[in-house]
Amino acid sequence: MRIVQKFGGTSVADIERIQAVAQRVKAEVDAGHQVAVVVSAMAGVTNQLVEYCGAASPMHDAREYDVVVSTGEQVTSGLLAMVLQNLGVQARSWLGWQIPIHTDSVHGKARILSIDTAELVNRLEDGQVAVVPGFQGLGEDSRITTLGRGGSDTTAVALAAALKADRCDIYTDVEGVYTTDPRIVPAARKLDKITYEEMLEMASLGAKVLQTRSVELAMNHHVRLQVLSSFANTPGTLVCDEDEIVEKEIVSGIAYSGDEAKLTLVGVEDRPGIAASIFGSLADASINVDMIVQNVSEDGSTDVTFTVGRADVDRAKQVVENDDAIVCREVRADGQVVKVSVIGVGMRSHVGVAKTMFEALADKGINIQVISTSEIKVSVLIAEEYTELALRSLHTAFGLDSE
Ligand code: ADP
Ligand code: ASP
Ligand code: MG
Repeated sequence: MRIVQKFGGTSVADIERIQAVAQRVKAEVDAGHQVAVVVSAMAGVTNQLVEYCGAASPMHDAREYDVVVSTGEQVTSGLLAMVLQNLGVQARSWLGWQIPIHTDSVHGKARILSIDTAELVNRLEDGQVAVVPGFQGLGEDSRITTLGRGGSDTTAVALAAALKADRCDIYTDVEGVYTTDPRIVPAARKLDKITYEEMLEMASLGAKVLQTRSVELAMNHHVRLQVLSSFANTPGTLVCDEDEIVEKEIVSGIAYSGDEAKLTLVGVEDRPGIAASIFGSLADASINVDMIVQNVSEDGSTDVTFTVGRADVDRAKQVVENDDAIVCREVRADGQVVKVSVIGVGMRSHVGVAKTMFEALADKGINIQVISTSEIKVSVLIAEEYTELALRSLHTAFGLDSE
């Protein structure tokens, strides 16, 4: 069997942890498997590197940012290769540019285009473990790129797909994918299985246990993906097709994202084309808009509310204020909001999910500011201070609490 193992930041946080990881790699090698390992930077290191960049230059060159922030993974890949060698396991590190892992040139959030696996496969077949730093690649501009925060998951899944691996095991600091973030809701339950689709929604709606792009790749390339703990020997969560899951819940999980900010345009002139001007200008400035609501017009004017990523809020406000085609009384920005979403493929065949959600929030006196829905999720925007209360109440309301 050929497998890819990925170890996140807390799993390689220090030499002791790296030694524990090496034992897990060795166990797979001893079982006769070919193993490629993907590692993250030590916990906290990438944040520190990002901070350095901000301190060195607030408006820095994204290519140099990638040179800096990609280094954390270089350290752990070398260290793990050394420790494996000490255990008598043949191993070497392979930096992104050495393989190479080809990406586009969108520095800071590059996408993997292809991976040259010929030489890696030769070595794997000879019994050598490949230790690959996650998160990094080689851009079309021949420079180092990084894949966006949490990108080591994507390196692992892309490598598993390219190597046609039988399994991709993502080792992290919780025992699998839970019904919601177990660090916020102690009653959260570990799921034995979750569909690719639900996992994709969970990830894109804020559950950082897997990077969204990694789930997308796993779904498209049918990678057998498993999330499990590097701290315990318990079975994890399998991400799989819907037909592999016998008992389906209506709601499988609840996610939240604090990376949101709300803008309200008060007293916008209500005429055809106004939404096109607002969202056209924002798109021209490469600002992603997520949720949108527009109120009914009473006196020829209306309020338009929408959300953007928190990092974009000041820029979005400026864009709207500086655009002469957008006439409104006032632009209000609010960064103290959070998006909470309930997710489940069962929603396709069951009604009443939104009702249960809204009632549970109303019972706690939590005001809903914006709502958006899709086939398998309902999201609401609420004040940030209610995050925990909302997650816990919804978790109970949908019968997800562990016994
Ligand atoms: P790693 O460093 O291993 O990549 P991350 O910190 O990126 O780990 O992701 C694991 C974290 O994701 C957990 O510690 C947990 O707090 C968080 N998380 C959020 N939502 C979920 C969920 N539904 N299930 C499991 N973990 C979740
Ligand atoms: N070290 C990178 C980050 O912290 C990539 C990863 O760990 O997945 O975002
Ligand atoms: Mg991660």
